[in-house]
Amino acid sequence: MKVQGYAAQQAKSPLGPFSFERREPGDHDILIDIEYCGICHTDIHQVGDEWGGSIFPMVPGHEITGIVSKTGLKVTRYKTGDRVGVGCFVDSCRKCDACNKNLEQYCTNGMVTTYNGTGKDGSITQGGYSNKIVVDENYVLRIPESIPLDSAAPLLCAGITLYSPLMHWKAGPGKKVAIIGLGGIGHMGVKIAHALGAEVTVLSHSLKKQEDGKKLGADYFYTTSDPATFEKLKGHFDLIINTVSADIDWNQYLELLSLDGSMVVVGIPEKQTSVGAFPLVAGRRSLAGSLIGGIKETQEMLDFCGKNNIASEIELIPIQKVNEAYKRILASDVRYRFVIDIKSLV
Ligand code: NAP
Ligand code: ZN
Ligand code: ZN
Repeated sequence: MKVQGYAAQQAKSPLGPFSFERREPGDHDILIDIEYCGICHTDIHQVGDEWGGSIFPMVPGHEITGIVSKTGLKVTRYKTGDRVGVGCFVDSCRKCDACNKNLEQYCTNGMVTTYNGTGKDGSITQGGYSNKIVVDENYVLRIPESIPLDSAAPLLCAGITLYSPLMHWKAGPGKKVAIIGLGGIGHMGVKIAHALGAEVTVLSHSLKKQEDGKKLGADYFYTTSDPATFEKLKGHFDLIINTVSADIDWNQYLELLSLDGSMVVVGIPEKQTSVGAFPLVAGRRSLAGSLIGGIKETQEMLDFCGKNNIASEIELIPIQKVNEAYKRILASDVRYRFVIDIKSLV
């Protein structure tokens, strides 16, 4: 079927109108009329081919919400009219250890990413900056009625990317959690960690968002541009989640961990980082990483957000403003996620 979207034709080129083909829904597929799509910093990394391997033309977008408009003959979980979402992947091998443990994001045979990937039929996947998508029902999420579809969209990547490590490293009452970077994924971390009952500190590269930080649920807010922050908070945190998309010195932050504390990296800068042994061995500290979350956990996160009235803080834009939005994200000028109103695609 013909689909309208916005694509980058080559690395770093501005996005513009693009029409392309998607498969007709098969027996297990559903067709979704996309209403909203969040802009993740990953879209910018991929359009810029910063991690290598980008495929063009590229229609980015993996924070998708919309309404089911058609279902395949064997679909059992969804019906026409349902409010649904699609996150960062649309398929996986379904038989490796990771897939069997509901951790499809770590599929050892490679998950099929929502865009910039290759589907099982060999076609290149295209994402949510478009008006329709066809996805196997097993890789589709249900959006709770209490969350509007526009502010729900960023939960599909930003929400799960922070929920998963917060759960895995047991953030909760009595735990001191720091979130580095109050951006799209970072602000979801503040909200979720606060709802889980942890003490939450934001470490931001300026004090510009201090008031917001408190409103979002942070107990404390410090700027990392002041060297005194690193003195004051030495050895303080049980868990630090680093969401920063740019190069920062991880060693400085490891020193802020308490005995047995963990720093979990979720931000993925373009360049490699060097880590010294001393900050790790002194304090038996751990350095780890985490990638989005599986389908089961993503549904749990959505239900948790529905129950706790959590959604993303968004700035809704027409798709024609996507290139401007990219520039503003790079300048840390977004509070806190741009979401594209797909109705603007005409
Ligand atoms: P974002 O909205 O641009 O947020 C990044 C934040 O990092 C900024 O708001 C800023 O926060 C901080 N920052 C930016 N430049 C900085 C600099 N030069 N020095 C220090 N801090 C800086 O991006 P996002 O969408 O949240 O994504 C963040 C990163 O996570 C990206 O690399 C993205 O690819 C990655 N990501 C990973 C996963 C995963 O599964 N692991 C999932 C989604 C995204 P302050 O202004 O508060 O300092
Ligand atoms: Zn993302
Ligand atoms: Zn697998």
